[in-house]
Order: sequence, then structure tokens, then C-alpha cells
Amino acid sequence: MASVKERLEKLGIRSNLDLVLHLPARYEDETKLTRLGEARAGVPVLVEAEVVDSDVKYRPRRTLVVKLRDEDSELWVRFLNFYPSQVKQFAPGKRVRLFGEVRPGFFGDEMVHPRYKIVQKGAPLPKSLTPVYPTTAGLSQSTLRELIEKALDSLVLDDTLDDELRERLKLRPFRESVHFLHRPPPKVDARSLEERTHPAWRRLKFDELLAQQFAMRLAYRERRAKSAPQLPDQHTLTNALVKSLPFPLTRAQRNAHSVIAKDLAQPHPMRRLLQGDVGSGKTLVAALAALQAVENGWQAALMAPTEILAEQHYLKLTHWLEPLGVKVAWVAGSLKARAKKTALESIEQGATQFAIGTHALFQEGVAFAKLGLAIVDEQHRFGVAQRLALSSKGGEPHQLMMSATPIPRTLSMSYYADLDVTVIDELPPGRTPVVTKLVAEERRDEVIKRIRDSCEDGAQAYWVCPLIEESETLQLKTAIETFEMMKGTFPELSVGLVHGRMKPDEKAQVMADFKAKRIQLLVATTVIEVGVDVPNATLMVIEHAERMGLAQLHQLRGRVGRGTQESHAILLYYQPLSEAARTRLKVIYENNDGFEIARQDLLLRGPGEYLGARQSGAPLLRFADLEKDVDLIELARGTAEELIDAKSHTVMKHVDRWLGTRKFYLKA
Ligand code: ADP
Ligand code: MG
Repeated sequence: MASVKERLEKLGIRSNLDLVLHLPARYEDETKLTRLGEARAGVPVLVEAEVVDSDVKYRPRRTLVVKLRDEDSELWVRFLNFYPSQVKQFAPGKRVRLFGEVRPGFFGDEMVHPRYKIVQKGAPLPKSLTPVYPTTAGLSQSTLRELIEKALDSLVLDDTLDDELRERLKLRPFRESVHFLHRPPPKVDARSLEERTHPAWRRLKFDELLAQQFAMRLAYRERRAKSAPQLPDQHTLTNALVKSLPFPLTRAQRNAHSVIAKDLAQPHPMRRLLQGDVGSGKTLVAALAALQAVENGWQAALMAPTEILAEQHYLKLTHWLEPLGVKVAWVAGSLKARAKKTALESIEQGATQFAIGTHALFQEGVAFAKLGLAIVDEQHRFGVAQRLALSSKGGEPHQLMMSATPIPRTLSMSYYADLDVTVIDELPPGRTPVVTKLVAEERRDEVIKRIRDSCEDGAQAYWVCPLIEESETLQLKTAIETFEMMKGTFPELSVGLVHGRMKPDEKAQVMADFKAKRIQLLVATTVIEVGVDVPNATLMVIEHAERMGLAQLHQLRGRVGRGTQESHAILLYYQPLSEAARTRLKVIYENNDGFEIARQDLLLRGPGEYLGARQSGAPLLRFADLEKDVDLIELARGTAEELIDAKSHTVMKHVDRWLGTRKFYLKA
């Protein structure tokens, strides 16, 4: 049997402060009595009545049935699980207070399993609403209430904000707010409690957000105080690259490049997030940043979340950079021992100027001779915690993070507040938006015809196999089966297959064949989600699209529409659709803008999953709501800046209080 302490731990409660911050999920009104005759079905009420009769019935189930009466009406109460002692409690003549819903039953109005108490006539009623707390198996409401009451009585809960500031912010005192939420008076506006808009709620949310802002801003400042190599733009390699390209940089790329160029010239570590929709050309901006490090005699590293993406980067970047004489190396987990050893040695000796790879780059004791810049692609895949962990590794190189998943404003003001953000808000010219179609699997034949027609016209197509989260083996099996099937369906086409389990050189070969049009139809697992870049591929079929997340669908779809031809993404779905799947498909069908898709994604999934924090264990806000409390986030942000600037004693006082609570968000 778990102890009370263990059960509290389950709720994340470890201290008295945790207890008082464990707020009710809802309330029950036991402050007034309702006459039995006035109780309406479906509305929980407190009633008081006298026992007339009680009896244990054995059919159809063992049941304790109690008949009660007040001045003018009767009530039947039934208990299916009961102790023998309860039978005795309900002796005729006893007065009982019961809380529950009255509903019409076989014999008349009845209550089933109400909460009840034997009382004396005229016993006083509680003066505040009764809190109902979120709890866990084996921890009763009454135990929890008692513990929280005790904690409330014993804690001082003085305010971390000065009166003057608090009044200026139009916030209630902290202590008062906490007490209020545990014991609200009966006349309170129930909706404002439920929707957490009541001033008492606002105060708690504000304090939580303020703590988060302090943590993020302090981390930010701490970083600004650290030193990093100064890598000013020498305009040698960077200019050479720009000159060698067959196209000019977009305005947005130029802007991003110049912001990053300035950051790198600073003697403090850059932590910048470069954010731009799929296909906006982030890789080029990353290449320029890397060259700036190399120009200054430092090394750069680029890390991608999957091997196939790392490899795509490697191919693209060597193509760009080797003509400039830059030494680029590739490091991935699957590299043969000898090749890896060679690569690592070259990195350690500083012969490699730019290392590209998967997270293997920052594991297994890779020692860079002189790492000046670390670039992380598709940062969102690494999650918040990993981003922070990475920053503490290997001294203080500058860091550039890239993501195609836009961060909604609320997130960039909160979870990402320790970063600087640059947005590439423009796609290279000549792109035509991808036309998205939703097609039920019954109409597969039409899709097959479509592929045949496009490929006859010289275009190329992807067939993306379903994501099977439970089993990688099954996913692989499905991919191979699909491949065989496609070969049968399209004897006239050359069909290729690429999946995550292939050897790197096999994968590279397939991708090279696809690029060179030696493959017309490429069957792929979701490994092609990011990075693949074949402008002539204008058709993509995504099978079981209903299983995929919004970000994933958007990323996948971004693999087409890379040339000037109009491209199509066909989302093949299987019936019946769940409500969530239907919504996702609708969002992806209606939107081409990555920002809007991300916003919807955040709404649908909540910030926890969105941030990938569920896996990485980064704590989340528990009172404030990133969507609804934008005004409070802004208020907290401004206040945090002001107090930190003023070196106010409030900062440490506030951080100290919230640091001790569960789920507090901190650490860099
Ligand atoms: P993402 O931002 O999704 O990582 P990429 O960096 O892969 O996008 O770029 C997408 C494609 O656009 C690549 O083929 C790249 O070479 C090309 N590209 C990048 N910048 C430009 C530009 N300024 N003009 C034309 N094409 C560009
Ligand atoms: Mg990219």
C-alpha cells in the first residue's frame, strides 16, 4: 500500500507550498440547503432529511436502500457498496445531510451514492464553497482537504510583490488569492472560477508566469555575460558562396544573414533561432554562418535530427562549399568504425572545418579542435530540454537553431524567451503553392492514374508510406510491401524505395538516382519528412494521412512545390476518421501557411506535446494558459524586465518561492 506521502508525490506535491498551490478542479455548494421538493434533476444540491426506513436488498444486487423525508417530500437513497457500519448509521429518526443529484427513480426521487453526513438539527453550514481537488487513487477528498487546510493555516504566504507594484499591476494580494481559491464565498461568480478568469486566478497565473520570465530572462542575461569567440564577417568565403550561387538571396535571407553575422561578431555566445517555413532556404543562411566561423579560423558543426536529413545537408553543402576549398566531414551513428574514426580525428585535429551529422556529433566524446558555431536543424524535434542540454556542452560556441515549425507568439514570449528569434518570412521566388487534395482510400484507383499521368509527362512522384508508431519493423514491412505493389502496378515506371533502416550509402544512392530522374516514383517512409530537395518531384501521395500530425504533414507536403511546376499533395485517408483526425485534415487542407498550421496545432495539442516536452520531461505551466493569457504573459514579461533592471529584491524572493514548487520551469 502506498503511503499518503507517496500518493501526494504522484500529484507532484512535496511541500506545504505544493499543497496550497494544489488548486481545486471545481467546487460544490454546500452552503445552503435545498428542500427535497425543490431539487431539480441534474443539479447537485445539499439536502437534509430524516431517516424513515432503511433496508438491505439482495436483488438484483446487494443494495442498501434508505428512505428519507423532509417537511413535504420523500427521497430514496441507494448504496451499492457499503460497510455494515453504514447500515447502522441510517437508523430511523437520524438526520442526514446529503450532497448529490436527485433524479427520478422507480419508487420516486432518488440519490445514488451521495456524499452524506449524520447531523444534529440546526448544525451550522459551511460558509464557503467546498473545493473538489484533482486527486489520485487511494487519496480521498477529505484527506486532501484536511492536509491543504493545515498547510493554508501554517504557511505565511507573504507577497513577493511590493504593494506599490502590485497595485500598479492591478493584482490581488497573493495570500488572499490563494485562500480565496480554496474557500471561495458562495456568492462568487462560478464561471470566473471555472474559466480561471477570476482576479484570484489571475494573480496565481501572473506569479507563475513571472517566475518563468525571471528564469528565462536571467538565463538570457547570464549568457550575455559569458564569452565566446568573436567571428566577424570577413566577406571572403561568404561572398564567394553568394557569388557562386545560380540565384540571389531573398530579402529575408539577406536580413537573417546580416543579423547572424552581427551576432557572431559579438564576444558573447549567440543563441538564435532561425525560423522559416519549409522551403524558405534556411540551409543557405546556415552555410553562410558556418563560413563566417571558418573564415575566422574556427570550426562549424551542423546537427540534424535524422540521418537522411543530415546526409541531404551534407550533399548540398559539400556541393556548395567544397569548390570554395572548405573541408566538410560527415559523422553519423551508422558510419563504419574506421570511417568514423577518420572523421573524428580530422575534427579533433581541426582539419575538418565544417562537420555535418546527426546527434552523434555531440555524443561519443567528439572533441572539436576549435568549435565556433553549432547549428541545429529542425530544432523542434530535439525538444526544449535537449536544446538546453546542448548549450552546456563543449564550452560556449555560438549556436544557431533552425526550425520550420513556427513558434506561436505566446511560446516565443515564454518557453523560448531565452532565445533571439529571426524569421525568414518569404519563399524564394517562382514557387507555386502546393495544391492539397483529400482522397478517401476507396478512390485509390484515381490516385494511381494520376501518378501514371504525371510521370508520363516527365514529372516525378513520392509515395509516402503510413506511419506506424507502435512498430518500426511493421513500418518497414509495410514500406517494402508497398514498394513491391507499386512495381506491380507501374511496370512502365522505375520505382525506388527509401527507408530509415537502409545503409547510408544505399540511401544516398537512391536519393541520387531520384535526383537524376533514374527513379520516377519513390516509395518512402516518413524519413523524407525533412530535407529532401528534388524540384522535379511535383506529386506526393501520403498514405494514411489521418495518422500523421499537422507539423509532419506540412513538412512532408513541403517536399513538393520546390520547382516552378504546380505541385500536388494527395492525402489518402482511411475511414472512419476520428474527430481529431478530421480536424487535422481540415486544417492542412485549408492552410498553406506554416504559421497558421502551427497555431492550430498548438490549440489542438496543447503546449506540452507541441514543445515535445512530454518526452523530454521539461516542465510546463500549470496555471496560465498560453492561448488565453497572452495579456498576462506580456505583463509578466514587462514586469520581469523592469525588476531585473532595477535589481529589485523581488526577483530572488519570487524565484525562491517558485523554485521550490513542482513543475517550476527553469534552468539553463
Ligand atoms: P528549408 O528552409 O526548408 O531548409 P532549404 O534550405 O532546403 O529550405 O531550401 C529549399 C530550396 O530552395 C533548396 O533547393 C535551395 O537550394 C533553394 N533556395 C534557397 N535559397 C534560394 C534563393 N534565394 N533562391 C532560389 N532558390 C533558393
Ligand atoms: Mg531544411
